[in-house]
Amino acid sequence: MFHKILIANRGEIAVRIIRACREMGIETVAIYSEADKEALHTQLADEAICIGKATAKDSYLDIKRIISAAIITGANAIHPGFGFLSENSHFSSVCEECNITFIGPTGDMMDKMGNKSQARETMIAHHIPVVPGSEGAVSHVEEGLEVAASIGYPVIIKASAGGGGRGMRIARNSDELVHSFETASSEARNAFGDDTMYIEKYVENPRHIEFQILADNYGNTVHLGERDCSMQRRHQKVLEESPSAAIDDELRTAMGDAAVKAAKAIQYRNAGTVEFLLSASGEFYFIEMNTRIQVEHPVTEMVTGIDLIKEQIRIAYGEPLGYTQEDVKIQGHAIECRINAEDPSKGFRPSPGMIDFLHMPSGKDIRVDSAIYAGYSIPPYYDSMIAKLIVFDENREKAIAKLNSAVGEFIVKGIKTNLDFQYTLINHPKFVKGEYDTSFIEKSMVL
Ligand code: ADP
Repeated sequence: MFHKILIANRGEIAVRIIRACREMGIETVAIYSEADKEALHTQLADEAICIGKATAKDSYLDIKRIISAAIITGANAIHPGFGFLSENSHFSSVCEECNITFIGPTGDMMDKMGNKSQARETMIAHHIPVVPGSEGAVSHVEEGLEVAASIGYPVIIKASAGGGGRGMRIARNSDELVHSFETASSEARNAFGDDTMYIEKYVENPRHIEFQILADNYGNTVHLGERDCSMQRRHQKVLEESPSAAIDDELRTAMGDAAVKAAKAIQYRNAGTVEFLLSASGEFYFIEMNTRIQVEHPVTEMVTGIDLIKEQIRIAYGEPLGYTQEDVKIQGHAIECRINAEDPSKGFRPSPGMIDFLHMPSGKDIRVDSAIYAGYSIPPYYDSMIAKLIVFDENREKAIAKLNSAVGEFIVKGIKTNLDFQYTLINHPKFVKGEYDTSFIEKSMVL
């Protein structure tokens, strides 16, 4: 097994990876920015190296510094976590060139899925249903108008390089399309340095259902069931659960098979997630594949009993999966709430600063993945997610009851959080019934 792993990340996911390594007897190296001297991952790892200034581009995104840190400390593998360099194909390739194992797919696999319009083309070639839309990229607005006329409005204009819910615009008629196409492409150019755009039919009120994939280096590929991530604000996930209340066993099998086929289409390896939209009439469509571990991976861990980070490490080391699709059993129900340092009364504006008092819930099957502690000052430079609260129980009803109790017990003082917002959300009759789609927060919550 690897002797030492460098974790090219921060926050709760860095802590999560340190824990997995420790259990596996692997030494850990944390990298940290000048703003993260007091961060938990810096303190918990066996070794920690400061690699630069607070701004991510001078630290967590600086490939040369990260590789140097790995070489200096003798780490023989790098775990990228999510965000930062986790989907940077150049980083994956540089690691391989330096004889450091990148815990994730190859750069080439990332490229095939990272470009979303190209991924669509690949899926079409492999007969996996995609949302009706442009075959690949749309290079100018006239072409966009033609595509929209053939599929019908409303449509959604998306950036091929987009991610994190950014770079998307809905157009309900041709005037809107002309206007939004230009703004969306200039936004994409600024945000991602790439203004390649593509167009999809805008699916009204869909569910977002994604499948967790695990694939070893020998072509063994399984899915670990789905996560329902329909609870979103501005196309960003707020709460996730598994299994989904919206699909039955037959649909689960069909979608799971399609997800495995999507991964196999590019000979994918390591952990990945195939995302689908499920229309109100029950049709499902591929939207993208994420070639990394995801924020919401714990809900899958809770219902399958499989530790996804340990599996990523094992697979990267070259171990075979050791189980088949039939061996994967989904049991019970898990729900995750994302706890963010933000102020819902001020448009969910980030609320960094000092945590004066902290009490985190605990109890049977209550899990909190976080990197905060009382007296810790949340720096303003990074993502505002400070914790993930995950509960597990034998069915959805009991899991919601447990989540209610746990959210009510969670106390964070000194900064603003979305805890009250989450409490209102999980008590909404529509959530309780499992009847919600991606437009729920916008339509049913008073913000
Ligand atoms: P990102 O990579 O930025 O996360 P995705 O393509 O995964 O973007 O889409 C994020 C969310 O945006 C989806 O979960 C869904 O809520 C919404 N969305 C994306 N494509 C469509 C579509 N064609 N119709 C309706 N909603 C969509």
